[in-house]
Amino acid sequence: MSSIEFTCLPTIIGSMPHTDPSKACSLVTHYLKEIPAWPQLPRRSFRENMCAQFSQGFPGIVIEDNKIYIDRSQDIDTHLEKLYAAYLDNDIDKYAISPEYAAGLHEFLSLKHLVPRAVKGQITGPVTWGLTVADDSRRPVIYDDILGDALTRLLRLKASWQEKQLSQICRNTIIFVDEPYLSQIIYQSAQKAGATVHMGGTMVVIEGPAFSTRAESFLYRSWGTDVIGMTALPEAKLAREAEICYASIACVSDYDCWHEAHESVTVEIIMDILHKNADTARNIIKRAVTRIPETRNCECTSALKAAIVTDPEMMPAEQKKKLSLLIDKYLT
Ligand SMILES: [Zn+2]
Repeated sequence: MSSIEFTCLPTIIGSMPHTDPSKACSLVTHYLKEIPAWPQLPRRSFRENMCAQFSQGFPGIVIEDNKIYIDRSQDIDTHLEKLYAAYLDNDIDKYAISPEYAAGLHEFLSLKHLVPRAVKGQITGPVTWGLTVADDSRRPVIYDDILGDALTRLLRLKASWQEKQLSQICRNTIIFVDEPYLSQIIYQSAQKAGATVHMGGTMVVIEGPAFSTRAESFLYRSWGTDVIGMTALPEAKLAREAEICYASIACVSDYDCWHEAHESVTVEIIMDILHKNADTARNIIKRAVTRIPETRNCECTSALKAAIVTDPEMMPAEQKKKLSLLIDKYLT
């Protein structure tokens, strides 16, 4: 993009509640004349869900019944070859975003009268996409070396295709990489808070409060775990049942007792570090909350849907009342 002064001009993040692309586009172009953006319309179709929207052409991808997943029984290798060939040739037109996946984008591109200072598009980032879309065994794409790598290439092709289309309206283009995944927001907030932070990892949750024996400590390490905690598992399960997005900020207090070069911990040392960690965590949360989007597109929003198997008629009234806040929407 050439040098351009934005002088705090507004634009939008992308999603709009409309289902009619022309209505959404006329609102955008009416209020955001300087930097209009094409509207994403997730209520129009599941194909406009923030992950589904950029999934067309991904090896093994299936979209059905408002679900998106990877079917490994499909011929994934042939599609991978096709994707890498297009990537190496920079053949971006092969991975275009078609109208049924982004009606708002195509409507926006058909508008003739626009004279904006810049145009904005958006694409879902690889962390959010890769953590949301999983294969048949519920393993997210981001943890698969081959598919995870393919994903970054697919998204790059789609971003470039989009940029090429938008540049026909205005040569100043902005492509916003949308990464609203809670853990990603927290990771970035932790970096901004100056913490040493690692994204991802495996936590073993033990009963506590308790110190591990050396034997336990070696055992946990042999399982490939990264941190030991005492509360996160019930939290994660309860949050899931309540359809609350959940991410853990695992502040480390010590090396447990396996590390030869580190002294064994005492309660005093731990309490001191604990207080420092609490300050860091507060600092991270303060930065993170302002960045969490108000509307959610993630699967947490309907996590309980498939978990209710009891016929509502057979549920004791008292139990129904107790859980009404969580289950009412699935009982009607
Ligand atoms: Zn969520």
